Amino acid sequence: MTKRTPYRRVLLKLSGEAFSDPAVQGGIDPTIVRRVAEEVAELKESDGTELGIVVGGGNIFRGNSPAAAGMDRSSADQMGMLATTINALALQDALEKAGVQTRVQTAISMQQFAEPYIRRRAMRHLEKGRVVVFAAGLGAPYFTTDTTAAQRALEIGAEAILKGTQVDGVYDRDPNQHSDAVRFEHIDFLAVLNKGLKVMDATAISLCMDHGLPIIVFELLRAGNIRRVVRGEDVGTIVHAAPTGSGAA
Ligand code: UDP
Repeated sequence: MTKRTPYRRVLLKLSGEAFSDPAVQGGIDPTIVRRVAEEVAELKESDGTELGIVVGGGNIFRGNSPAAAGMDRSSADQMGMLATTINALALQDALEKAGVQTRVQTAISMQQFAEPYIRRRAMRHLEKGRVVVFAAGLGAPYFTTDTTAAQRALEIGAEAILKGTQVDGVYDRDPNQHSDAVRFEHIDFLAVLNKGLKVMDATAISLCMDHGLPIIVFELLRAGNIRRVVRGEDVGTIVHAAPTGSGAA
């Protein structure tokens, strides 16, 4: 198993659901966005960790959702990419109000709103202590922001992907439906794929597996959790490469 260590540079993946009140489902709840921003601000202040953030858009629009029924998939996905940009701007505002210097970079040029994605510039921002929020996914349809997270994490040399969710890790079954569901402390990539566990989509998992990039799935809104994960504490579930000669979880 991958021993946890403190991380110096990480990629935080926030799904669209991280922006909305679970009771309401959808839209942006400013109180929740502020809580996320405050957690990030505390991390920056206490540990100085370099942080890139990929935001999803599912709270507003997904290219494969019923709201897109009958639409050309590429057009629907473009709407999804715009949705991620709306979330990115909300997060930037909240982060800056919490005292964190933030740059948004979009995979599709919208230069009146944000910088275009330029890897070297993103790296420079990170080195200067700024948080970089990556918006508009990969800029291409038929992808997800999970895959974007894997791609950007590799590009910026992040040591791990932190996948913040509403549950505290990866379970063998849906913990909301099965009270006896068991949480994995650690599990390897192949087991995630073989068991069809909902960690990230298969493209994202494959990319992480091919490059040995660990994913830590953890409960986003538990106070101090982002910091605990970054410090290498046993929080949530770590998805990692199988030890050589073993295919077991
Ligand atoms: N999307 C896309 N290409 C990308 C990333 C995202 O076309 O590289 C679109 C796609 O329609 C997707 C939507 O943006 O459904 C929102 O992203 P995602 O579903 O990953 O958001 P999340 O589930 O994380 O909220």
